[in-house]
Amino acid sequence: MTRRIDPIRALGLAACVGAMAAAPAAMAETPLIDIYKAIHEHPELSHFEADTSARLASELRAAGYETTDHVGVYGDGARAYGVVGLMRNGKGPVLMVRADMDALPVVEETGAPYASHARGKTVAGQDVGVMHACGHDIHTSILIGLARAMAASRSRWRGTLMLVGQPSEETVDGARAMLADHLYERFARPDMIIGLHDGSDQPAGKVSLAIGAAQSGTTSIDVAIRGVGAHGAMPQMGRDPVVLAAQFITQIQTIISREEDPQDPAIITVGSIHGGTKRNIIPDEVKLQLTTRYFTDKGQETIISGIRQMAQGVAVSAGLPPEKAPIVTIVDRESAPATYNDPVLSNRVRTVLIRTLGKENVIDAKPITPSEDVGLFGLPGHQIPLAYFWLGAANPAAFEAAAAKGQTLPGPHNSKFLPDPEPTLAAGVKAMSAVATSLLQ
Ligand SMILES: [Zn+2]
Ligand SMILES: [Zn+2]
Repeated sequence: MTRRIDPIRALGLAACVGAMAAAPAAMAETPLIDIYKAIHEHPELSHFEADTSARLASELRAAGYETTDHVGVYGDGARAYGVVGLMRNGKGPVLMVRADMDALPVVEETGAPYASHARGKTVAGQDVGVMHACGHDIHTSILIGLARAMAASRSRWRGTLMLVGQPSEETVDGARAMLADHLYERFARPDMIIGLHDGSDQPAGKVSLAIGAAQSGTTSIDVAIRGVGAHGAMPQMGRDPVVLAAQFITQIQTIISREEDPQDPAIITVGSIHGGTKRNIIPDEVKLQLTTRYFTDKGQETIISGIRQMAQGVAVSAGLPPEKAPIVTIVDRESAPATYNDPVLSNRVRTVLIRTLGKENVIDAKPITPSEDVGLFGLPGHQIPLAYFWLGAANPAAFEAAAAKGQTLPGPHNSKFLPDPEPTLAAGVKAMSAVATSLLQ
């Protein structure tokens, strides 16, 4: 069953909202740490961020932002829970700050007093435990902290601040849904975009930033290798697609080792393979699900054309007729471009981070291969410059103790990933506010 909880009641806000309607100035702000813990305890899966987005929208409204919720439309026409908060503060650039809001199908094992016990249903209808295992609760809370800080310091900046709460990052279709709902036409087209992601690979108080390539792009590809079914004891009567799939799987790794530029890293992984029903039946078809990663358009082209060519090749080598050619399908809804940190913008951001947090707390990051969809907001060809940085979330003492033993702490997507919220939120709001203030001049 999908959880259906009144967002206001679930987050203990009933009294607060009542007071706000009567006398806005008199209502005390809920401390950010309490907001974080409430969101952490009530995580919501991709496509189902009803309560989280309602909470974000109500906090942005309370902070004085022109706020719209239910922004976004998925490929199947369903509405998304995107949130946009605008603060127009005179002539100047438009800065978009993006925070993702969704949680993961993971059973939480952190043992925190505010740990999640939530269950939910995925889009596919699977009943699962739900946890903020990717730390998007930190991102959403920092966006609220930033909204408050920027509203309180309007005399120190000029332009338009556009705060975006994005749904469905983990299913890589939330940014696309918001753009499909005319995000930039309805609200504002940003001149710059910034965002952050937390992680346990750095202690709270430290950040890191890559200039240029930051995260790989990903294209999901489905391949159906077709053959001719037969009795397993009479292979000469058929064309075995299991053998063809085996050839294909080993051959496509040569795209990486022999065709792709060694200076331009790329990955092909076959994560799923299904064919056949019984040991003595040669099936008609084998289905493969691939993920691919790359940092450049050239790398993406090399991978996709190589996969198409080699799929064709195994069918031709088996003497299969054209109507039995493999079917290669690019799954757009599960694909995302590389995150490219615009060098000019990223260097400006880096300078502000160093000034704000100290040189020793700002680390140069290397590009990483996990992907996400923030790059879509930059539009094809990096039309809108983006800077995306990593925020340390580990408890500093636990981080040191683990490092002394040569160990690392559980990180994103792990059931034991637990940010140290107070210092992480403090550093995140401080860093984001300083960067936003500096860019909005
Ligand atoms: Zn994630
Ligand atoms: Zn994430």
